[in-house]
Amino acid sequence: MSITRRTLLVGAGAGVVGVMLAACTGDPVPSPSTSSPTPRPTPPTAMPAPVSWMRSRWSTDPYALGARSYLPAGSAPELRQALAAPIADRLFLAGEATDESRPGTVLGAVDAGRAAAAAAIAAADGPERIAVVGAGLAGTVAARALADAGHTVTVIEARDRIGGRIHSVTDKDSDLPAQLGSWLSGPDEAAALRARLLSLGLTEIDLDTGTGWTADGETASLDTTPLREAIRRAGDGAIDIPLTDALAQAGADLDDEALAASLAWVSATSGVDPERASSWYPPNLLADELVGARGDVGAVVAEAAKGLDISLSSPVVRVAHDDSGVSLRLGTGESLSFARAIVTVPLGVLQKGGVEFAPALPLTHRGAIAELAAGAIETVWLRFDEPFWQTDAAIWHIIGGDASIRTWLNLAPATGEPVLVGLVGGAEAEAFAALDDEDAERVTAASLTYVIPAGE
Ligand SMILES: Cc1cc2nc3c(=O)[nH]c(=O)nc-3n(C[C@H](O)[C@H](O)[C@H](O)COP(=O)(O)OP(=O)(O)OC[C@H]3O[C@@H](n4cnc5c(N)ncnc54)[C@H](O)[C@@H]3O)c2cc1C
Repeated sequence: MSITRRTLLVGAGAGVVGVMLAACTGDPVPSPSTSSPTPRPTPPTAMPAPVSWMRSRWSTDPYALGARSYLPAGSAPELRQALAAPIADRLFLAGEATDESRPGTVLGAVDAGRAAAAAAIAAADGPERIAVVGAGLAGTVAARALADAGHTVTVIEARDRIGGRIHSVTDKDSDLPAQLGSWLSGPDEAAALRARLLSLGLTEIDLDTGTGWTADGETASLDTTPLREAIRRAGDGAIDIPLTDALAQAGADLDDEALAASLAWVSATSGVDPERASSWYPPNLLADELVGARGDVGAVVAEAAKGLDISLSSPVVRVAHDDSGVSLRLGTGESLSFARAIVTVPLGVLQKGGVEFAPALPLTHRGAIAELAAGAIETVWLRFDEPFWQTDAAIWHIIGGDASIRTWLNLAPATGEPVLVGLVGGAEAEAFAALDDEDAERVTAASLTYVIPAGE
């Protein structure tokens, strides 16, 4: 989507919660003028209108219902194994949530796809007709392995495109595609995947300098030491507690604005809700050092999908199995029969009953689905005529005030394109996804208030 070239008024006090309350009560949306909770030297008036504005809505997208799975406090990594256990050797669940070593990641999805394919191949009685539900990375990798082993494979995908939670979108008038799904990694993570992307013609975007923004302007970046220390202490505890409880027990002040910004950064990069996330199995705590991919990240999925029989725009609504095979019912009412099926729909879809299973999944699978958490991340991608900001720092943290989107990436220094990417995670991301475009634009602009130079 895009917005018209008008000036966006920056409304202090117009965070997601403020906007949602206004929507609920019918009150006018908070106005730009008076209610800033933090004193400012010179009140900003407006953010220049972006020439291009795109946003993700993974949290409400019926074929995702989340971004990355994670372990809530009290749960255990073995739940993922339980989810991946073959069901009567007919049905195999796969996808990032089923991978125990690298869950919530693209590499976890690859591993899960391979593992499910290996299990189906081991169960098969000679060459068979096998279905794969979902054409994300796990599904296409699984289908490729099955086809290479001599099986007749049909991939059935609900969307009108492949790639799932990997989604690069062409931005008209720019050669920098907008990345609305996975495209970032820590510098040491995923070297193999990055090598693959480079071999497919993508290049890297180094984002390796961080800065903070407060009501008083640019300031030092975040210090994640309190969080690391709280996690270290909680690791020795008798029971697993959520990250925010771990911080409280370690004596941290949960009202501290810098700590809130640290938690927002953790949520934006991992999808976890700190009030739920396990401190025994915490998310990756990244430093201000990321590597982004420049180009169509979907190339990695397209490569696995080459030559496969893929039915797009075909949501599967029911998966039935018995001793003789698997039957899939599509949203159109059509039914298809196979010897076996690998189902790679995301955890969020399983949790919300997006696919019916007959008979019901075994209790261990249902237990795992209920206990694991589907984390949320949303992205806003803004391209401007020219930068209105005056820093070369690539990673920004908005500290204080009521910004909904506290993590921003400045792509201008690394790409020459005046692009800002906002990342929001956890509960705030779910609230952001629920906003209509007009309100989302408003809270996006309000989140950048501190970055607008005084007097602009
Ligand atoms: C905003 C965001 C940021 C991320 N950041 C990172 C990161 O920095 N690093 C990292 O490693 N990972 C990241 N991830 C996670 C990564 O994208 C996923 O782990 C991975 O892409 C999941 O692949 P998958 O095949 O398991 O699932 P998906 O890609 O979701 O594929 C599942 C497929 O099933 C389809 N489907 C759903 N329901 C049905 C149905 N009823 N019938 C038929 N098809 C259906 C979907 O449309 C989809 O194509 C991020 C994800 C998001 C959303």
